[in-house]
Amino acid sequence: PAAAAAATTPEEGLAGSVEESEKISAAEKSLLQKVIRKGLVENHHDLEVQRKDPNSPLYSVKTFEALNLRPELLKGVHAMGFDAPSKIQETALPTLLVDPPQNMIAQSQSGTGKTAAFVLAMLSRTDVTKNYPHVVCLSPTFELAIQTGEVAKKMAKFCPHIRIRYAVRGEEIPRGSQLDDHILIGTPGKLLDWGTKLRCFDLTKVEVFVLDEADVMIATQGHQDQSIRIHKLLPKSCQMMLFSATYDEDVMKFAEMIIRNPVVLKLHREQQSLDNIKQHYVVCKSKEDKYRSISNIYGVLTIGQAMIFCHTRKTASWLAETMSREGHAVALLSGELEIDQRINIINRFREGKEKVLITTNVMARGIDVEQVTMVVNFDLPVDQNGRADCETYLHRIGRTGRFGKSGVAINLVDGPRSMQVLQFIEAHFKRPILRLDAEDVDEIE
Ligand code: ADP
Repeated sequence: PAAAAAATTPEEGLAGSVEESEKISAAEKSLLQKVIRKGLVENHHDLEVQRKDPNSPLYSVKTFEALNLRPELLKGVHAMGFDAPSKIQETALPTLLVDPPQNMIAQSQSGTGKTAAFVLAMLSRTDVTKNYPHVVCLSPTFELAIQTGEVAKKMAKFCPHIRIRYAVRGEEIPRGSQLDDHILIGTPGKLLDWGTKLRCFDLTKVEVFVLDEADVMIATQGHQDQSIRIHKLLPKSCQMMLFSATYDEDVMKFAEMIIRNPVVLKLHREQQSLDNIKQHYVVCKSKEDKYRSISNIYGVLTIGQAMIFCHTRKTASWLAETMSREGHAVALLSGELEIDQRINIINRFREGKEKVLITTNVMARGIDVEQVTMVVNFDLPVDQNGRADCETYLHRIGRTGRFGKSGVAINLVDGPRSMQVLQFIEAHFKRPILRLDAEDVDEIE
């Protein structure tokens, strides 16, 4: 491959170092994931339930009707297109709605219905005759708070008397005034400010306290302390619930500090597999050669929808520009975009307005696009030391056992090092990755 050195260094994708600015925060990942999600993530695991008091019975329901919700709330749930509770909701909802109120820690991956569960519990416990905030939800960021608020507003569509207010940056309350909203959804800093400095609501009157995205919360500087300070001011009788997508030690330590005597629900992540995926590789000489391969298969890429992963933002931008210049319609999701722009691009892609999305490894981590039929690794996923990153590979290409859903993966290899990475991945998953001639598109199916 020495001949390829003229235009670009071959294998520059394996260089490892990713620009600092390209890293995205846990909060952004979580937000993008929410935006990109269309419906529930399937999960076939059994729910694991732990509780301190085994004498208190735990119910589960198979229908929303069985929850004895107010009719206007039930109507709201149905209007959102929810026919039956998700797996976590089956057990979480009756537990959250029972009297006396129970505390809860619930962990399950993004997309399994946690938000809908606690929003329903919040609305169900809202008493519109109490004209002060008595239901409070903490979210790690402005955007995540808005997402939750939008779910609440949709679900409360037929409950016109419930008032919801955001406690986020940009929301100002005149000094000396008292809030008469029932529900506050906001970030820890702002809520603490309102509750302790501005005193526009009384934390000792809060009856329901939700801490969402606990894992993101503790990953965000200062949020953990602020959450604990808020928590300390709540009355003992307040129902407390905490939700998290992951379940590591730090999160659990924090959760147990905040939530007294909880019912703990845990839904293990569904395994992804490569079973339905046809994997190929194409041997290329350089970046330009990789581009030509993609160009050749562009027609195949756009039969369904495709995502192309590059190692660095620079490569991703270059590829997007080059493809656009040649008249190929592609979208670029990159770290330099504002969060609104990213959401816009993801939404357009999800709606099928764009058929090919080019992105970097970092941007796309944790994002699943179910309808993507083809994944191209412009650069193979590697860790900081340039070694094969099998986990990322699986996450990107694998599917969670959706029956009958198949996909195609194409890996572009440009030298002995990336060939080694490819062989490592092939050996790791024990699934063949077949060589493909990009000139001969008919082979891909
Ligand atoms: P999480 O908070 O765990 O990420 P969400 O509550 O946001 O999950 O739910 C993920 C997606 O599934 C959302 O689009 C939501 O509207 C939808 N959803 C939630 N509960 C149900 C349900 N019972 N039936 C159908 N769709 C649901």
